[in-house]
Amino acid sequence: MKIDLTGKVALVTGSTRGIGRAIAYTLAECGAIVAIVGRNQATADAVAAEIPGARGFACDVSEPLQIVSLVEAVEKHFGSCDILVNNAGITKDNLMLRMKDEDWDAVLDANLRSAFVATRAVSRGMMKRRWGRIVNITSVVGLIGNKGQANYAASKAGLIGLTKSVAKELASRNILCNAVAPGFIETEMTAAMAPEAKSAMSGQIPLDRLGAPGDIAATVAFLSSEYASYITGQVLVVDGGLTM
Ligand code: NDP
Repeated sequence: MKIDLTGKVALVTGSTRGIGRAIAYTLAECGAIVAIVGRNQATADAVAAEIPGARGFACDVSEPLQIVSLVEAVEKHFGSCDILVNNAGITKDNLMLRMKDEDWDAVLDANLRSAFVATRAVSRGMMKRRWGRIVNITSVVGLIGNKGQANYAASKAGLIGLTKSVAKELASRNILCNAVAPGFIETEMTAAMAPEAKSAMSGQIPLDRLGAPGDIAATVAFLSSEYASYITGQVLVVDGGLTM
């Protein structure tokens, strides 16, 4: 059993580092042509240069018009957009009582509205071609909540509602939409944590380690493949057993 994505074009938002970059590498290893996306063109180009056939695109996913232009550019350059991975995400943590409206809006715009706008933009072409895969990167925090992350948890829970609604609307066109909910994964987003906090946390994970970006990338590759052709509207939790 080998995942074969030859001939498919994959757009992965937030693929200049961390989980998104691992997803881009893995999809490319499976044969897909990959669009690398980040806010800075030079950074996206540098990552794309390491992946055969890939190309870098600059886009701030908090800006809807930039997403529309991004999808147009990817479809123009590669001819289609068959796989969309809504991975770009940010945190602006604070206790709910101290959270500023602008930090709420920034997180919801970057993490949730971005996925809606990108999904709407790619779905026209996918409907015409009667094939599409959309994978939204949510979080276990969207399932269980977290102190200090009301904005982030709301955005990630919102992604789950979006995933299920899109899955129902597009199923008849052979477009599948699923979500992956990572637990704690070692990236720059979690690097800021104190070592004691990290070890306390991994102590609560039955598999006794933080996850690696590749753990999420493999799941996304599976959900993008023909092996997942009867799976839609699901949330696949990849957390070492943390929330079971
Ligand atoms: P990182 O902070 O390491 O990387 C974030 C990526 O998103 C970067 O490539 C960054 O690119 C890009 N990005 C951020 N904001 C924007 C924006 N406005 N427009 C376009 N690109 C943007 O994060 P992770 O790899 O850790 O996280 C990836 C996803 O996984 C996120 O959605 C996160 O919420 C989710 N997740 C992560 C977990 C973890 O433990 N790490 C756990 C659960 C979920 P650039 O700076 O070049 O613009």
